[in-house]
Amino acid sequence: MKAIRRFTVRTVLPAALHDLDELAHNLRWSWHGPTRDLFESLDPALWASVKGDPVSLLGALSPEKLAALAADAGLVERVRVEAAGLRTYLTEPRWYQGAGDDLPAAIAYFSPEFGITKVLPQYSGGLGILAGDHLKSASDLGVPIVGVGLLYGAGYFVQSLTRDGWQVEDYPLLDPDAMPVTLVREDDGTPATVSINLPGDRMLHAHVWMAAVGRVPLLLLDSNIPENDDLARKVTDRLYGGGGEHRLQQELLLGVGGVRALRLWSRLTGAPEPEVYHTNEGHAGFLGVERVAELVSQHGLGFDEALEAVRSATVFTTHTPVPAGIDRFGVDTISQYFGGANEIAGVPLDRVLALGAEDYEGGDPTVFNMAVMGLRLGGRANGVSLLHGEVSRGMFNGLWPGFDGSEVPISSITNGVHAPTWVDRRVSELAESRFTPEALADSTGWLDPSAITDAELFALRRELRAQTVEDARARLRKSWRKRGASPAELGWVDEALSPDVLTIGFARRVPTYKRLTLMLRDPDRLRALLLDPERPVQLIIAGKSHPADDQGKRLIQQLVKFTDDPAVRHRIVFLPNYDIGMAQTLYPGCDVWLNNPLRPLEACGTSGMKAALNGGLNLSILDGWWDEWFDGENGWAIPTADGVEDADRRDDLEAAALYDLIESQVAQRFYDRGEDGTPQHWLQQVRHTLATLGPKVQATRMVEDYVRHLYAPAAVAGRELHGSGYAGAKDLAGWKATVRSDWSQVRVDHVESAGLGESPQVGDRLAVRAYVSLGALTPADVDVQVVHGKVSESDEMSSFETQSLEVTEEYENGRFAFGGEIVLDFSGAFGYTVRVVPRHAGLANVAELGLVSNA
Ligand SMILES: *Cc1c(COP(=O)(O)O)cnc(C)c1O
Repeated sequence: MKAIRRFTVRTVLPAALHDLDELAHNLRWSWHGPTRDLFESLDPALWASVKGDPVSLLGALSPEKLAALAADAGLVERVRVEAAGLRTYLTEPRWYQGAGDDLPAAIAYFSPEFGITKVLPQYSGGLGILAGDHLKSASDLGVPIVGVGLLYGAGYFVQSLTRDGWQVEDYPLLDPDAMPVTLVREDDGTPATVSINLPGDRMLHAHVWMAAVGRVPLLLLDSNIPENDDLARKVTDRLYGGGGEHRLQQELLLGVGGVRALRLWSRLTGAPEPEVYHTNEGHAGFLGVERVAELVSQHGLGFDEALEAVRSATVFTTHTPVPAGIDRFGVDTISQYFGGANEIAGVPLDRVLALGAEDYEGGDPTVFNMAVMGLRLGGRANGVSLLHGEVSRGMFNGLWPGFDGSEVPISSITNGVHAPTWVDRRVSELAESRFTPEALADSTGWLDPSAITDAELFALRRELRAQTVEDARARLRKSWRKRGASPAELGWVDEALSPDVLTIGFARRVPTYKRLTLMLRDPDRLRALLLDPERPVQLIIAGKSHPADDQGKRLIQQLVKFTDDPAVRHRIVFLPNYDIGMAQTLYPGCDVWLNNPLRPLEACGTSGMKAALNGGLNLSILDGWWDEWFDGENGWAIPTADGVEDADRRDDLEAAALYDLIESQVAQRFYDRGEDGTPQHWLQQVRHTLATLGPKVQATRMVEDYVRHLYAPAAVAGRELHGSGYAGAKDLAGWKATVRSDWSQVRVDHVESAGLGESPQVGDRLAVRAYVSLGALTPADVDVQVVHGKVSESDEMSSFETQSLEVTEEYENGRFAFGGEIVLDFSGAFGYTVRVVPRHAGLANVAELGLVSNA
């Protein structure tokens, strides 16, 4: 069959229905119910058979059917109204347009995966879903983001099971022409192409597809084009497919090719060039090298000057506290791509290698680390929850030796989720119909039992649970058919799960730290919970293992075998192929969302947020976002056995705590019914969750945080360095070079203090005078700081503040006295020391140069 030449014939829509094409190709339909209703109404049966995919639907409508629809005046009017609504959405001023003056004209957002809708399966898990939610919320807020990613020929795999529960992966080929993407073309109609050099005189070419995510264009590079040799065509064959060089070539295409795609996008559409570049995890890090190369070749900057200009306007988000989650390549491999004949003029190989070098204690000198490069190229960096920010500062402290963990320049912005995608329409429509606009906006309407009564709220929860049960049964039947069962053997599936039983959901990727099988630690106890005659629990579980991770597949198999037991299979199910489609039905129907990672390895986690937005209660280890927002009423915290070194024992302890909680609290409360048959305390918790977590967990909050705390400052810093022919970048690079070379002469010679009596009291003032040698540097180049705070028994400063001293005199050539006062503002053991750090208005933080001289 290889010789078959295929192409896709596009439907020609009658003029009256022309707008359907735009409505189908703008992915806003995926979070806009009325647009989906319109498509469904064109042909409900066909809509079901194409699984709710507008582009497929239009392709499958016959010319006769289309003619009949075009003659239906009512329908034509609905199309007009929806199209007009979309255009208003795309053009009207939104939050960003009134959010301030210094905001960037455009922001580029790079990610190796984007999870936007089930019809564009270009994601594997949380990282991609988050990227999709980021773009959608940016669109809703009017934030001028351009997404950059790859278009994978087969996306991530489709999961099924063998008879004995082993994961099987399939990679169905996707046809871009049948997807809601548009090929970007030159003015003469030929496909726009980006090309990058590969070792051995080879080239990698890619076409660029555009997916319209509401107001946000998402550019996706596709190497499967005839201009490429066979190997190069396979670079974008699948997401996280191969290892080593295949992965490196994907990341080169994403980073280097992505910048080139942005340039041609601006050239062809007139869109403003991005002022800020945000990389979602380290995979796209080469975007910084490409921008340095541009500045060197087009503006004659030196490498260091270009690096300053690039860094100032780059934001890096790290997503994993698990070292195995970070991409590392051999230094020799990177050398082939950026050295020899591929070395870029003005971008020396050793400088590129230095960006990703693990040249710190415990580092491996033979590898190139993409997260380290991300931090060195990103003037601003963040983790994805408060706890993860803290863990990341500890993890990367080695890059800033001499500074305390708290000063490592990695902040945090807690992830969020896109409510219109993840909230079941029944929930949002009920809220819209009952709440005042104010109560709807701040979610407090949920607290008002006169707006929605307990009986109504519980009925809504049951409806959602019933929908999940029905969907789970259909998936279970399909899975068993694949596993070789005949319909006659599957009668029990109609009785599997119940719409009235307390439902616990657990779905996520299956890396070891997420502990898929923790619940199986004591199988008898689990069975007892499931089969409790008074207060039964049912569990719905899903998750994919990375194709190369046999350990993960063994965990899935172990779990599936447990669920296959006829004694419990009506109360516990494993559903294959966890994806957006499943997730959208699963989260709303679960009463409890379970998460039991090994703390603190879950950077944030977002599935529990999606459950919460539908009134689900979380039952989770205090990790990621739950560590931050668990408040005692919105669910339960599974106690952790922190500090227990033995992994098995820790699992035993935490599993036992989980069983205890379910038995003595969760199930008790769910089945504790009042006179009206509803569980009152439970519903109070549901109301509390919807009202208080609702606003926090939303991705609009997250994107606003990114705009205020990272994008806006990065744009301002970028402009400072870019203006007047990059004068600021040249100045900063020159200054840094001087400071670096002269720093060895900087020294605190002597510190004196005065002003305190025998027994100092709170409010007393301590005068500090420091005598400092600066060598060739001047007092303007440095900040002389008193570091002061509480001191522990072991003479360590647990938390501290800094206060700058003023220069008072040059008492000798190159030697200065600095002085000032600090106020003793707490009682107890007080300690202080003096240090010198570099100072320049262009520095984003105190640790940026990694230079410090302590007394
Ligand atoms: C939200 C989501 C995830 C991420 O959930 P975590 O809690 O971060 O594990 C993964 N896959 C799908 C399909 C999702 O919708």
